[in-house]
Amino acid sequence: MTTGEVIAIGTELLLGEIQDTNIRFIARAFRNLGIDMYRASFVGDNAVRIAQAVQEALQRADVIITSGGLGPTVDDPTREAIALAFGVPLEFRPELWQQITERYQRANRTPGENARRQAYIPKGAVPIENPVGTAPAFYFDTGDHVVISLPGVPRELEFLMEKTVIPYLRQRFGLREIIKTRILRTAGIPESKIDEWLADYERFSNPTVGLSAHPGMVDIRITAKATSEDEANQMLEALASKIRPLLGQALYGEDEDTLAGVVAKLLRTLRWSVNILECGLDGTLAKTIESVFDEFEAQINPEPCPEEKPSLEQESTLFEKLADVYLIASLQSNLEKAELDLHLRIQETQKSEKHYFGGPPLNRRIWATNIALDFLRRNLIKYLPQD
Ligand code: ATP
Repeated sequence: MTTGEVIAIGTELLLGEIQDTNIRFIARAFRNLGIDMYRASFVGDNAVRIAQAVQEALQRADVIITSGGLGPTVDDPTREAIALAFGVPLEFRPELWQQITERYQRANRTPGENARRQAYIPKGAVPIENPVGTAPAFYFDTGDHVVISLPGVPRELEFLMEKTVIPYLRQRFGLREIIKTRILRTAGIPESKIDEWLADYERFSNPTVGLSAHPGMVDIRITAKATSEDEANQMLEALASKIRPLLGQALYGEDEDTLAGVVAKLLRTLRWSVNILECGLDGTLAKTIESVFDEFEAQINPEPCPEEKPSLEQESTLFEKLADVYLIASLQSNLEKAELDLHLRIQETQKSEKHYFGGPPLNRRIWATNIALDFLRRNLIKYLPQD
């Protein structure tokens, strides 16, 4: 088992001025490589604290990747920190200095004393060429551990990860493991219920099963570790095919599917148009459908908001033409809870539902949108031709 940690360096991160994406990127790369990650941390631009963080991580992990702090200025402390952590001096590397000067020359500039700082790396470290930026990256292999220092700019970090670091780690640690994930997407059933249904599977260690809840929806993530892509796919499919029947109609899609995308696909298959009238949702429902489907018209917040079931007369005064499907979604919200009234006409059939839910007021339009889309989906399914 190979373990990894990430240390994201930058006072900006600790002040909340920028949001981290580098840890996330590296965490996914570790996952795909089969490197187990148990911790990640943020450290400010201070060489001593970074050195301490690296030394602590060395007690736990085989691979440590740092991001940031490789620029040419004094507050770019990573080079010095890694040298401190290993008790080695910084060493001037003429080949790095040459790369840096050439890069400056190409931009018709002359490198200053600051830029020269970047040609120093800890003695014993191996430079990683950085063709997409100025700061050279490097790694330090002690025989037991590897510490890799990459630039903070996400585009540079991601490029170097793909081009150099991932292939290097595969080879260095003999990583043959593949990790693959399948997501089963559900709507309309609370997380606690799904948890009850899948309790036995959630105890598995390979593949693992985990839940993540979103407003009105729950994703089931199945992750398999294997030594080949085929084996991983077979493991995922074997478990997914056991779980799918337990979910029934709550299962709306898999992997990249979205609820709105699935509704749009159903409408396209049925060759139906849709009229939508929404109140209290501020256009969220209409915008969500509009982004994936164009055979529809919407009315947002008409006054007064109709409480009755959809009627053809009312619809014909509001819309240019009668559609095959007409949905009214009306949301009323106070501090404690929200009430969503849904009325649906599909051809000559009418259907109504009322939903109550709580949660942060800002999320309620998204909840309401997802509940409305799921209501539409569950009703549209009934009209699909049976084959
Ligand atoms: P450079 O030589 O280009 O300055 P660097 O290694 O010194 O690279 P930093 O100065 O630490 O990198 O960061 C450069 C910029 O990259 C930051 O201002 C920020 O916009 C972005 N950045 C740094 N760390 C992260 C991170 N963890 N997640 C997302 N963006 C980051």
